[in-house]
Amino acid sequence: VNHLTGKVDVHHHLIPDDYRAALARRNILDAGGRPLPPWSVRRSLDVMDENAITLSLLSISTPGVWIGDGHDAYEIARACNEEGAEIVREHPRRFGLLASLPILDPELAVEELRYAFDDLDADGVVLLSSSAGEYLGTPILEPVYEELNRRRAAVLIHPTRPTWMPDVPLEAFTLEFVVDTTRAAANLVFRGVTERFPDIRWILSHAGGVVPFIGYRLQRGWKGRPDAVEAAPRGALSYLREMYFDTALSASPWALPALLDFAGPDRVLLGTDFPFVQPPAVEEQSGALEEFLDSRQPGVRSAIESGNALTLFPTVAERLELQPRG
Ligand SMILES: [Zn+2]
Repeated sequence: VNHLTGKVDVHHHLIPDDYRAALARRNILDAGGRPLPPWSVRRSLDVMDENAITLSLLSISTPGVWIGDGHDAYEIARACNEEGAEIVREHPRRFGLLASLPILDPELAVEELRYAFDDLDADGVVLLSSSAGEYLGTPILEPVYEELNRRRAAVLIHPTRPTWMPDVPLEAFTLEFVVDTTRAAANLVFRGVTERFPDIRWILSHAGGVVPFIGYRLQRGWKGRPDAVEAAPRGALSYLREMYFDTALSASPWALPALLDFAGPDRVLLGTDFPFVQPPAVEEQSGALEEFLDSRQPGVRSAIESGNALTLFPTVAERLELQPRG
């Protein structure tokens, strides 16, 4: 079995010029309170080279493709997916693609999902935690869950700004993002999506929002709801701990122990959130993660930095001519 010496980054964004222009036409100049940073393939490759990242899975960040009134979401998704696929064709051993879907039109979303996997060779999917107030787990997305499950798809759940923001001096990305991720994860479990579609591999951004920290509380909430107990008979914690978690913006010496204990070393994946996290912070986070992982059992570091991602994304392992584990 070949081993990869470099890392795999599962949380890495592309911002195509056409997408930036589509946002600007709708007067959207930021993502959750952060200005849209400059981006190019070159910038991605540079930050990857500086941090020993062999391959990054590219995804569109918030606000996603369902922007404004959702009109044109299909065209925007298609254009972003084609652009991402083109980058992967040019650099098959440096990039992978997580496709975007026009999620609130489930029929079109399924169509785009099929196109992305069958024609563009996408490696997985990115979905926002919520779109226009609809959270992942909503019954309206049933056809999408079916298709994702049929394909055993890996889905990165990316946070976004919820529809309502309290009046406190915190941008959405500072606090609401992690709560939105947690809300989506809980909705998927409590509404039985994780029970009924067990082959979808969900990746929660940013160490699962606050899932590891409030897992006990979520379990109590589940127990108190007969509908949730029926929909998710194994218990909320059991489904939540089967999800995957990326390390983006979470490599602190207090968050990582909770994450590792909650998820186990096989379910944690390296994420940088470049370019929203700029190169100095990517480097700082990489260093903090390395330092923490070197203090754990041997093998844990390589699992989190690359091995788990290669298992989760067999198409990536194939392109790198590596054997996925197990
Ligand atoms: Zn991100």
